[in-house]
Amino acid sequence: MPFTKTEVDIREDYTVEAVDPEWLKQGVKSPKHLMLDPDNCILCRACEDVCPWNCIYMLSPSIVEDAGDDSVDAEVGAATAIFVLDDNACTRCSVCVDRCPTDTLYYARLPEDSAGKREMAAVPTSQRAQA
Ligand code: SF4
Ligand code: SF4
Repeated sequence: MPFTKTEVDIREDYTVEAVDPEWLKQGVKSPKHLMLDPDNCILCRACEDVCPWNCIYMLSPSIVEDAGDDSVDAEVGAATAIFVLDDNACTRCSVCVDRCPTDTLYYARLPEDSAGKREMAAVPTSQRAQA
């Protein structure tokens, strides 16, 4: 039987209200963080594009100047892109994990002695997706 709009019970008493930011702050986030496996990434930037909260930035290594740390300079100098994630804004919604075409993104706990840092390693330029 064909569907007709008249069969839908349309409510007219719904009021749209803004979500209370204080209530949102009470949400419990997963203790796991988003991680990237450089062996699989093809630098397609789909994750950056799809994040509803604009948490992911794939930046040019040229933005880093005078890091003042030889190891950082060496790492950045060899990088094709710098993957920056705003952990505070990230809601762990998994949209980027689902969108990634190569299963590069996953969640994991940071090692206790990492002081909040995580090693992403380098993504070889040869893996970059063809435009
Ligand atoms: S898990 Fe969700 S909020 Fe976090 S970076 Fe991915 S898409 Fe953005
Ligand atoms: S969507 Fe996946 S393959 Fe593409 S840039 Fe992001 S992590 Fe890399």
